Amino acid sequence: MKWYASLATACVFLAACGAPSGDSGESEAAAESVAEPTGLLNVYSARHYDSDKELYKRFEDETGIRIRFRESGAAELLEAMKAEGDNSPADVIISSDAGTLYRFKDAGLMQPVESELLATRIPEHFRDPDNHWYGLAKRLRVIVYDPARVEPEQVDEYADLASANLEGDVCMRSSTNIYNLSLMGELIDRLGKDTAEAWARSVVANFARPPQGGDTGQIEAIAAGQCSVALVNHYYWVRMTQGSDAQRKSVEKTMLSFPQQDSWGAHVNVTGAGVAAHAPHKEAAIQFIEWLAGEEGQFLLTTETKEIPLVAGAEMPEGLDRLPPDFKESVFPLNKLGENQAEAQAIYDRAGWN
Ligand code: FE
Repeated sequence: MKWYASLATACVFLAACGAPSGDSGESEAAAESVAEPTGLLNVYSARHYDSDKELYKRFEDETGIRIRFRESGAAELLEAMKAEGDNSPADVIISSDAGTLYRFKDAGLMQPVESELLATRIPEHFRDPDNHWYGLAKRLRVIVYDPARVEPEQVDEYADLASANLEGDVCMRSSTNIYNLSLMGELIDRLGKDTAEAWARSVVANFARPPQGGDTGQIEAIAAGQCSVALVNHYYWVRMTQGSDAQRKSVEKTMLSFPQQDSWGAHVNVTGAGVAAHAPHKEAAIQFIEWLAGEEGQFLLTTETKEIPLVAGAEMPEGLDRLPPDFKESVFPLNKLGENQAEAQAIYDRAGWN
C-alpha cells in the first residue's frame, strides 16, 4: 500500500495526524519541526493514476493549498477511516466507483455538501441525493468483440453474453473486480435477482477460460483469438488505441458495443468525490471538488484516464472520438451499486464466476 504521500513532504502528515510510527519509514524527529500550514488538504483516494498527481500539483500551484494524498484500495481506506474516527485527517474521499462512495457514506464517513456550483454542473443522477458525494467523470462498462467472428446484433445487450451461440467465446475478469460487481448491482435491479443469477450462470457456461487478468487483458485475449467477446470499461479500449504498437495492433482487431441502446442504456459508473465526515479543512475540500468540476479539473481528471468528463461543455480527452458519437447511457440511482454489492458477489459466487 502507498502510505501518506505529499508532493512536498510526506512526514508532516504523519506527525500531524498522530499516525503510529514505525510503519511508514518516516522519521518522527524530522517531522516535529514542521508546523502544519494553513492552506492544506488531505485527500484519500482509491484511484491510482499518475495523472492525478499532476492534477494535485496544478491545484496546489493555483490555490496555494497544499495537498497530501493517501492512495490505497477502497476497502483499506474505509477501514483506516473507521479506525481514525473523529481524528481522521481525511478531507476529501475520491473513488472511481459510485458503489464505493456509497459505502463511505453508509459508514458515516462523509458529510453533506451544499454547493450551488456542483448542483448546477453535475447532473442529478450522477450525485448522491443527500449531497454526500458528487460524480465527476463517467466510465461505461461495455462489450468488446471480434467483428470477424461476431455480428454487432449478437452483442447489443448484456443478456447476449449468456446466449448459447457464444459458448466457449466469452472472456471475463474476476467477479471480485469492482466493475463487474457494480454492473451486477445494476442488473439485480433491472432484471431481478433470479434473472440476474441465471444470466451469470449462463455467462459462466460460455467462458472460454477461467476469469483472469484485467480489462486490457480481455481485449488482448480477443485479439489473440482466445475468445470473441468480453466486458471492458471503455477507457481501457481507448487507451490501447493510443498505446504501444502491439496494443494498437490488438485493439484494432476489436470493436466496442454499447449495450441496451433500445432499452435502459449502457451501464455507467463514475469517479466521484465527497467531503469526509470530520474533515479538518472542509472549506478547502469543497473548493477542491468544485475545482474538479471546473474546466481545468475536468480536463486533468480525464485527459490521461480517458474517462468521459461529466460536466456539460468540458473538453473531451483525445481518442474519445473513437466511441460512438451518440450513445444511450443508463440513468440509474448509483447508490444502489453499493447497496447491492454484497448480493452481487453472492450471485457471482453461486454462479461459479470466480
Ligand atoms: Fe480502471
